[in-house]
Amino acid sequence: MRYIEQIYINGQFVKPQGTKIQDLISPTTQQLIGRVTLGNEDDARIAIAAAKEAFKTFSKTTVEERIQMLQRLHDAILDRSDDMIEANITEYGAPKLAAIGRVKLAAENFMDTKEALEQFEFVKYIGTAKVVSEPIGVIGIITPWNATYSQITAKLGSAIAAGCPVVIKPSELSAIQAQLITECFHEAGIPSGVINVVNGLGQTVGTELTRNPDVAMISFTGSTRTGKDIRRGAVETMKRVTLELGGKSPNIILDDADFNTAIPTSVRQCFNNNGQACVAGTRLLIPEHRLEEVKVLAKKAVEAIKVGNPWDEDTVLGPIITEKQYNQVQRYIKSGIDEGAELIIGGLGRPEGLEQGYFVKPTVFANVTEDMTIAKEEIFGPVLSILTYQTEEQAIEMANNTNYGLGAYISSSNIDKANEIASRIAAGLVLINGAGFEMKAPFGGFKQSGIGREYGAYGLEECFESKTITGYKS
Ligand code: NDP
Repeated sequence: MRYIEQIYINGQFVKPQGTKIQDLISPTTQQLIGRVTLGNEDDARIAIAAAKEAFKTFSKTTVEERIQMLQRLHDAILDRSDDMIEANITEYGAPKLAAIGRVKLAAENFMDTKEALEQFEFVKYIGTAKVVSEPIGVIGIITPWNATYSQITAKLGSAIAAGCPVVIKPSELSAIQAQLITECFHEAGIPSGVINVVNGLGQTVGTELTRNPDVAMISFTGSTRTGKDIRRGAVETMKRVTLELGGKSPNIILDDADFNTAIPTSVRQCFNNNGQACVAGTRLLIPEHRLEEVKVLAKKAVEAIKVGNPWDEDTVLGPIITEKQYNQVQRYIKSGIDEGAELIIGGLGRPEGLEQGYFVKPTVFANVTEDMTIAKEEIFGPVLSILTYQTEEQAIEMANNTNYGLGAYISSSNIDKANEIASRIAAGLVLINGAGFEMKAPFGGFKQSGIGREYGAYGLEECFESKTITGYKS
C-alpha cells in the first residue's frame, strides 16, 4: 500500500489543507493499492503564491542556469527509472515494455527542451524595433492519467526553459506516479517555489488554477469537454490557454499500400497505450473492394496480440484505467453492435481467463458508417472501426469529416501521393507508412483537438510574451 499524504509546495513536501481521501485501485487486479489525500482550493492558492514569489528570481535566471536545471531533471528521472516503471505498470497497467519507453521519453523531453532553449533567440530585431521574449509568468499544468510522466515533463520542460514557475495538478488516478516524479524534481535541486505539485480534483484545484489571476497560462491535456470548461474559466483573467485534447484520428490505407504490413500496423496504431491514446488511429479507411481481405488481416493481427498481465514482457494490451472507463468502452462496443456494425473480433465483456481487472477484448468493427457513434466519438479503448471508401477524394473527405484534428495516418507505396494527401488532411500530426513520432517537433491539434503546440521549440514559444521596444538606441 502506498499512502500519498503530502503535496509539494515551495520546495517542501507538506500536508495539504484538503482532507478528502481517495482510494487507488489497481486496474490489473482491482485491489486497493494506495490512498491519496486530495488538496483543495486553499492548497492551490498557497502553491500559486509560492510560484508567484519564485517568478521574481526565476525569471531572471540565465539560460545557462536553466540548461543545467533541465539536465538535472533529466538525470533525476533516469536515477529513479526502475521505481517509475514499476509505478506505471502497477498504477496505470502499462505493459512493461511500454512503461520502459514512457519513462525514457519523460526524461528525454527535458533534453529536447534543452536543445530548443540553446537555439532560442530571445532578442530579435524587426525593422526599427527590438523584440524581446519574456517569460509569461506562473503556469498551471493540468494533466490526465493516460501518460502522466511524459505529459508532465513536456509541459514542465518548456516552462523551466522559459523561466516560468509552475503549479502542477496531476490526475488523482496517477497519484503514485505523480509522487515519484515529484521526488525526482525535488532531487534535481530546482529553486524553491519553481515547481509545485498539488494533488486534487479538477473541480477544486483545477478550477482554482484556471480562475486565479496570478496564473498567466494554463497548459492542459485531457478531454475536449474539460478543455472547453477550462477555456471558458480562463476568459475572465485573459490567461493564455494551451489545450491538447481528444481525437478520432483517421488511418487511410490507399489501394497501392502493402496491406500485409499496413493492416497490422494500423491495429497497433489504434491499440497503442491500451487503446487510451489521444492520437489513436481509430478510423481505418480502406478501399471498398479490399474489405474482405482487410477483415481477415485485421482479425489475424488482433489474434496475435497478447492481452493480460502488464508485467509480462510479451503483453501488448493491458487493462483500462478504471471501472468507469471500462464501462464507457463497453457502452461504445454495445452501441457499435446495436447500430449495425459488423463485429469482426472482440466484443462485450472481458477476454477469456481475465475475469479480474478492467481488461477489454480488443475489438474490430467492419461496415462502420460515418453516422455511427463509434465512428464519431473518442472511445478511449482498443476499438477499431473499419470504414470503406470508393475514391481517394472520398477518403480525404471522410478523414476530415470530424470535429477533431489531432492525428492522421496514411499508407501508400507512392510517397508523392501520400505526401499530397498529408497536405490535405486537417490534423496536427500526420504519420506516413508506419513512421514514428518526432518528439522535438510540435504536437497538438487542429479544430476541437486543441489550441497551441507542445514539445521542442514550439512548446517553448508558448511560454513567452513578446515585447516590442522602439527607440531603444541612444
Ligand atoms: P478530463 O479531461 O476530465 O480530465 C483531465 C484532467 O483535467 C484531470 O486532471 C482532471 O482532474 C482535470 N479536470 C477535470 N475537470 C476540470 C475542470 N473543470 N477544471 C480544471 N481541470 C479539470 O478527463 P477524464 O479523466 O474525465 O476522462 C474522460 C474522457 O476524456 C476519456 O474517456 C477520454 O475520452 C478523454 N481523455 C482524453 C485524453 C487525451 O489525451 N486526449 C486524456 C484523458 C482523457 P480530475 O481527474 O481530478 O477531475
